Amino acid sequence: MLRFAPSPTGDMHIGNLRVAIFNYLVSLQRDEPLTIRIEDTDKERNIEGKDKEILDILGLFGIEYINVTHQSENLKHHRAMTLQLLQEKKAFNCFCTSAVLDQKREASIEAKKPFRYDDSCTNLPAELTIDNMNPFTVRIKKPQSDTEVIDLIKGNITFKADDVDSFIIMRQDKYPTYNFACAVDDMISDISLVIRGEDHVSNTPKQMLVRSALGYNKKVEYAHLPIILNNDGKKMSKRDDASSVKWLLEEGFIPSAIINYLILIGNKVPNEIFTMNEAKEWFDLTKISRAPAKFDMTKLRFINHEHLKMMDSKELSRFVGFADEEIGELAKLFLEEASTLKELRQKIGAVFASKDVADEYKEGVAKLSEVIKNAPFFSEYDEFKKHIMSESGLKGKNLFKPLRIVLSGSENGPDLSALYGHIKNYLGEIVK
Ligand code: GLU
Repeated sequence: MLRFAPSPTGDMHIGNLRVAIFNYLVSLQRDEPLTIRIEDTDKERNIEGKDKEILDILGLFGIEYINVTHQSENLKHHRAMTLQLLQEKKAFNCFCTSAVLDQKREASIEAKKPFRYDDSCTNLPAELTIDNMNPFTVRIKKPQSDTEVIDLIKGNITFKADDVDSFIIMRQDKYPTYNFACAVDDMISDISLVIRGEDHVSNTPKQMLVRSALGYNKKVEYAHLPIILNNDGKKMSKRDDASSVKWLLEEGFIPSAIINYLILIGNKVPNEIFTMNEAKEWFDLTKISRAPAKFDMTKLRFINHEHLKMMDSKELSRFVGFADEEIGELAKLFLEEASTLKELRQKIGAVFASKDVADEYKEGVAKLSEVIKNAPFFSEYDEFKKHIMSESGLKGKNLFKPLRIVLSGSENGPDLSALYGHIKNYLGEIVK
């Protein structure tokens, strides 16, 4: 079983979508199901409705899964397993106050040493813990030996025993910490491979410690994906609009192109333009570069353009938001100068909108609009043009610029005769 485990704490980040796509591809390749686990145990950071938004995005991107669970549904298991660890003396109650812990943390910062819990409460005599009414957390006892992580991208990583301290598994409010809940849930779901962002690398030995303390010996493989950098070489964060999947969709990038792009970056691929289905045939998780991937808007626009070009006019008109196939043909024509759905919609919208005209063309536009309003229907552009010329008395530059503005709402654009072919049935609406 594979899993995608998003937190419902904000807009979906492209790094997360990349993780979901890779999990899906590998689940198809290995013929193992994919489960979605919404990690909602951090009550303060959860945002209402984000879980549904994430699932909607997965649906839009064609990522299939067998079920969805919310981590909070497993709370009873988290608590039962904490009790088990306490009984087996693999975990202990910790009464250290946050004030004391903060002091110790500051002292280690001053000493330029990483902070590790100093095991003050690890071996408290029983009489100090039973009947102690002070608030307490539960900590798992730190490992006795090094931990070796199998990582399909980074290569195997050894964490020294000292890298992991006796960390908190249950907070004072008796809700589990992320590392504990995640480790238990991966165990309950029988996860074989965890694909996630590399910001979680240091969590991995902690999660392995939890499972081995619980007596679970199945070898879980890991693949930690390198981060995605912005133009300035910094980690893409909320401040970068393009880090949000929702923003990219609103800007008119289409799911198939975003998928293509997120599989392409930091990867060796047989060709640049492909679909998820094609990638399934050759995708190799172990070939993903260990170096961070760089986000490149120009490249994404190019890929989006290529995917839009691959659509037939019916599909394209649906994507642009019209039921009419003819509008798809018009959109295809505008693809010469547009790379996103948003740009296409603007161009099509400008054809039908009332025209914003520069002074020098005002007179010509008014005259041509009148002539077109009263003109009979012409199937061919040449006949239409002849009629318009004779009725308006305009020619050359005085004719063609204003005519283009009347027909397309823009001073530049595709060949007028090609344009006419797709809009001749709507002239009434266009010059209204
Ligand atoms: N909920 C974590 C996140 O969104 C992912 C944890 C994991 O994949 O193990 O970053």
